[in-house]
Amino acid sequence: MAERFVAIQVGAVSFVDEGVGPVLDIFQERGQINALFLATPTWTRGTGGRQLPGQPLPDHGVQQHDLDWVGGNYATIHPQYYAGTILGAAGRAPEHPNWDIFEAVLPEAKRRGMQAYAWIEESSYAQELRNYPNFPKCLEVDAWGRPAKRFCFNNPDYRTWHLSIVEDYVKSYDLDGLAWCSERPGPLNVLLQGPVTPEAVSCFCPHCQAVAHERGIDVRRAQEGYHRALEWNAAVSAGHRPTDGAFVSFWRLLLQYPELLAWQTLWTESQRQLYRDIYGVAKACKSDIQVGWHVYHNLSFSPFYRADQDYAELSRCSDFIKVVAYNNCAGPRFHAWVANICQSLFADASPAEVYPLLLKLLQLDEGPYAELPKTGFTSDYVRRETARAVAGVEGRCKIYPGIDIDIPTAADTTKCSRDGVKAAVLAAFAGGAHGVVLSRKYSEMWLDHLAGAGDAIKELGAMR
Ligand SMILES: [Zn+2]
Repeated sequence: MAERFVAIQVGAVSFVDEGVGPVLDIFQERGQINALFLATPTWTRGTGGRQLPGQPLPDHGVQQHDLDWVGGNYATIHPQYYAGTILGAAGRAPEHPNWDIFEAVLPEAKRRGMQAYAWIEESSYAQELRNYPNFPKCLEVDAWGRPAKRFCFNNPDYRTWHLSIVEDYVKSYDLDGLAWCSERPGPLNVLLQGPVTPEAVSCFCPHCQAVAHERGIDVRRAQEGYHRALEWNAAVSAGHRPTDGAFVSFWRLLLQYPELLAWQTLWTESQRQLYRDIYGVAKACKSDIQVGWHVYHNLSFSPFYRADQDYAELSRCSDFIKVVAYNNCAGPRFHAWVANICQSLFADASPAEVYPLLLKLLQLDEGPYAELPKTGFTSDYVRRETARAVAGVEGRCKIYPGIDIDIPTAADTTKCSRDGVKAAVLAAFAGGAHGVVLSRKYSEMWLDHLAGAGDAIKELGAMR
């Protein structure tokens, strides 16, 4: 039987704090891990740096929070690959400046027969990216024509910069794969799932408008529709109820402005085109490199985002998909998500009323709404999400569910356990997974809980 793929997301700080050899020993012995998702670049606390400030430090690593953590590229940046973009060779992380994560880790990983992937976080929300020279010239534009805060997938400089990182990594290092992560919902989804500010609804930049022209979408009508939808969002989230209710008045906007939907699809397709470009460029540099995507937790919560993330379509530019199936933190996260959409699209009903219907629409089967923050989701959720993904990609790519190991939750809510992690990993493989990705970062995991993954792999009889 083929070896099961057991990956872990790990950031630079863990190797610097604990040493490459000792960290890999722990991964192999406790977690039965045979693949590394090395977090670079990342400007996101969820994958970079030590434990989140305010959360207790786990039982390994330096016992001090890195409050001044910035993030960035932890590999050497080779400037020859960054021509053709005004963003240039930006992004080197200020932490460990003379230390290269790939140079430090790859030889030892290879010696042990462990695969190594670059885990690339777009980190579109990070202020640090906007602090670099020229990045503010690549921003999305809101429905009133004002630059917003995130970067546009159709901006040639931004696209080329990401393709430059891909070329740099694949040509400069002997990597087995790339995993690319972008956590964004698109303009219509963000607007219907909770209260928003106008800058969150984008992109109407000249590049996106050109794509709209190509697709025969009326830009003015789309902008007008989004102005109206934002007015609707502001009124509903402030507690005002249209005579026909929040839902009916929203649906009427869709009838009057089908461009609302067309622009959401334009946005999603623009993101996916970047996926296709990354896939093609990586393969052109090294034909056997494995390329795949992180599909974020909104997939489990939003039927609207789920409809966007069509597995059959995604599978055509993927060797693998890391489907987020974080069952423990899903409890508090979904509880908050339902409360949020009840201030927007579902404002006509209460969260406790909306929740059972959402479970059905999403093919979930979890406990009472009020208890979710304390119970989390069951491990069977991991099995169902995996099976749905495996069926969706129709054999064209592999499915690696992301497994929740100690993703921080509020103080009085559900926590991970060794048995819970073991059950989640077993559930992933019961759902037909080709592997798992232990998430989100080693620096927030407790060693005993990491061993729950190892317990599962041993039980499955896998040989490292
Ligand atoms: Zn744009």
